[in-house]
This record gives sequence, structure tokens and C-alpha cells, in this order.
Amino acid sequence: MTGRILVVDDVATNRIVMKVKLAAACYTVEQAENGAAALRIAQEKKPDLILLDVMMPDMSGLEVCRKLKADPVTADIPILLITALSDRDAKMEGLEAGADDFLTKPVEEVTLLARVRSLLRARDSVRELLVSDGSAGSFGFAEAPTQFGVKTRPGRIALVAPGPRGAILWKAAIDDRIGGDVRIIQREAALTEAAADPDSAPDIFVISVDLAQRNEGLRLLSDLRSRPGTRHAASIMILPEGDSERAAIALDLGANDVLHDPFDAKELAIRISAQLDRKREADRMRAGVRRGLEAAVTDPLTGLHNRRFALHRMEQMLANPGSGVAVMMIDLDYFKKINDRYGHPAGDEVLCQVGHRLRAQLRGNDLLARVGGEEFLVAMSNTDRNGALECAERLREAVGRTDFDVSDDIKPIHVTASVGLTLPEDVHKGARADALIQQADDALYSAKAMGRDQVSRMPRPAA
Ligand code: GH3
Ligand code: MG
Ligand code: MG
Repeated sequence: MTGRILVVDDVATNRIVMKVKLAAACYTVEQAENGAAALRIAQEKKPDLILLDVMMPDMSGLEVCRKLKADPVTADIPILLITALSDRDAKMEGLEAGADDFLTKPVEEVTLLARVRSLLRARDSVRELLVSDGSAGSFGFAEAPTQFGVKTRPGRIALVAPGPRGAILWKAAIDDRIGGDVRIIQREAALTEAAADPDSAPDIFVISVDLAQRNEGLRLLSDLRSRPGTRHAASIMILPEGDSERAAIALDLGANDVLHDPFDAKELAIRISAQLDRKREADRMRAGVRRGLEAAVTDPLTGLHNRRFALHRMEQMLANPGSGVAVMMIDLDYFKKINDRYGHPAGDEVLCQVGHRLRAQLRGNDLLARVGGEEFLVAMSNTDRNGALECAERLREAVGRTDFDVSDDIKPIHVTASVGLTLPEDVHKGARADALIQQADDALYSAKAMGRDQVSRMPRPAA
């Protein structure tokens, strides 16, 4: 994994020792000898990670950390604080200032490198989401974050401890400090219940490295990371004091954070909150990507699929037609007059209701898309000549039979539709979606020419 790391320390020897360790693992290292230089380089070079000495003469590492987190340009860069003291208050202050972890000098290489890998990996996955989020946004469908509703839900926290006593102590430690739903669960429950439904799975698992058996927590962590329902959950692994080797393994297996027991209740609470914030942000981005992708294939007025999706779906149907494929183009008759007489909003309402009426006549697998202003496309597989003819007739009637009630001040509007139909027998082997649509469109043209409000079929084979 490549990455650019900024090492901040006022003592040159310390910087060099750190640089040697990191360079050996193929990271690029930048150096800063004081807080001011650190802020400047962080701004200019936007490193992937910052290793920050706490005790520096010009500005303490904590202050540098707070400034970096307050600046939108540098706020997302992970920070590892490095200190000579293992003083509790300084540590809490550092975590509260937004640092990702606190390493005590002399820094053990295994721990350091595992932390670095884990933080860089977390950053990479955020970047990937940003890239996909960006492309969804460029279709013009990006939406405000608050609309997704994931920010407001209280966090779901699951504690998996070796025995009931340990778990109760953990729960007591965080209950007063973190709002949210804190539950003690067994290993088996974590695997089954949590993996079943992504929408109700915990946001974060706090897992003891040893459960009924040694290393069972590590195995559980890997399992959770591999199941769809819990893949995106955050995890904090609790290990015995001094067990830095397994801490490194836990981080490499995908734990987002590690903590050594006996731990400070406040520290666990701070780490849980930090992971919850990050998880929510990632959830929000994933939701954005998903909505962007959906929006790209959806017609915003009716909520039906759009032409882009329809072509894609039709190619799939043609590859796997079952007993036969039929295609219909449905166009509202004299729709311009409806707009002219009742206004565009009334016309929009009719289009929405037409969408609903058509959908109600179709099977779940049938494709319905709005492919033009007042044009709808239907494609169905596993159908035959009679099925297709009956369906086309049903769709025509669904529009024309009952007038459309669009608002209190407008009397129900009479609308009819013409339908052009491509029957399964006219769909030749190897036919392309766009050719079939063209064929249905030609049939539609003849339905219009013969007086509208009717179904027409042109038995011209698709190219
Ligand atoms: P024909 O029977 O030949 O299809 O006549 P028509 O008036 O329906 O056909 P034409 O293609 O001349 O006009 C289509 C009209 O559909 C023009 C436009 O005002 C209206 N239209 C297209 N898109 C929308 C839309 O999104 N909302 C509304 N309200 N009207 C739309
Ligand atoms: Mg029309
Ligand atoms: Mg038209």
C-alpha cells in the first residue's frame, strides 16, 4: 500500500528513526520540525496520514491536532499522536481533539505499521465512495445529506464479551456516556441475527479478542467482515494489556480500532463515538451513491424507469426470452391539447396517474418505462401472441376507460392512448432492443394514422 506520511517532531533523531521505519515499508515520508511547519505542509501536500509528536516547544501536538481538524482541507487526514507520557488526561484530550490513536514512545514497529495500514485502508475506502459519489452527483441527482435520515438514528452498539460479567462492566462503562442502543450479544447471535438484515444490524461491534476460546474474537471479526449484513459495521477489538502482536493482527483483519483492557470507560466511549461518526458518514455516502445510481435509471416525474434502463433491461430479456418477448409503445393521444387546456401541472399529474394505471395491469417482471414526454414502453418476456394482444388492449383501456381526476378545480379529464405492438412472432432471433422499439414505434404511427385510441401491430421483422 502506498501512502504519503507527514512526520512531525521537534527532535531530528526521532524524525529520522520514524522515517527509516516507514520508508522500509515503502511509504513516502515528509517531515516537519514544529507545529507551524506541520500545518503548512499538511495544507499544501495533503498527506494521507500524520504522525504527530505531542510535546513540541512552539505549539503542542494537541493544538496542532485541533487546528488540523478545524480546517476543512485537512480535517479528514488521520492523525496518530506520539507521546513520551502515557498520561491518561493527555490521551483523552488527544482523542477528543480528533486524533485516531495515541502511541507511546518508544513506538513498537508492529503496532505502528498495523495502525498505519488500517488508517490508510479506511481512508482509501472513503475515497472510493467519494469517487462514485462524485460520478452520481455529476448526473445532477446529488441530494442533501440530511435527506437520507441516517444521521439522526441513534447508534446500535453490540458488545461481544467472554462472559456476562465482562459485558455488563463494558455496558455500564458506556451507557451513561453514549446515547443509543447498547446490547450485549453472544458470538452466535452476532453472526446469525446481525448478518440477516443490514438495516437492523449493529453499527458497531465491540469484541473481546478471546471469547469461549482463545482468538475466537478475531475469528468473529473476520466472519463479520465477510457477511453482507455486517460488512460495513465498525469494530473495536478489546485485548489484554501489552498484547500488541494480536492488536496488529486485529487491525489487519479489519478492526477499525483496538483498545487494551483494563481500559478507561471514557476512552472506550470516545472511541465508540468516533467510529460511529465515521460509520454514519460512510453510510451516508453509500446511500448517496445508491440513490445516484437509482436516479440515473429513473424518470423523476413518474418514478418509472427511463429509456436508459429500458434498453439495458430489454437486452437482458432478449438474451433470455423464455417463451417469447413482446414490446409495446404507448403514446397518449392529443396530449398537447390537455396541457393547453388545463395547464402543464395537470398534464404532469395525468402522466403520473397513467404510470400507475399501466403498472397495475402488468406483472412484476414486465418492464414499464417512460421513454418520452407522453410515451411509455412496455416489454415482457414469457408471453405469447394472445397474451401480448390482450395485454395491449388492457393497457389501452386502462387509460381511456376512466377519466383522470387531477385536482378539485378541474373536472375529470378524458384521455386516450394509442398502442404499437411488436408480437413475439415478430421478434427474430438476435434482434436488438432499439430495433424492436423502432418496430413498435412504426406500429404506433399506424395506430395514430387509423384514428388513435387503438392497438396496432405492424408485422415487419426487426433487423
Ligand atoms: P398525438 O396524438 O399525435 O400523439 O398528439 P400529441 O399532442 O400527444 O403529440 P405531440 O408529440 O404533438 O405532443 C406531445 C405533447 O406532450 C407535447 C408536450 O406539451 C407534452 N409533454 C411532453 N412531455 C411532457 C411532460 O413532462 N409534462 C407535460 N405536462 N406534458 C408533456
Ligand atoms: Mg401523443
Ligand atoms: Mg409523442
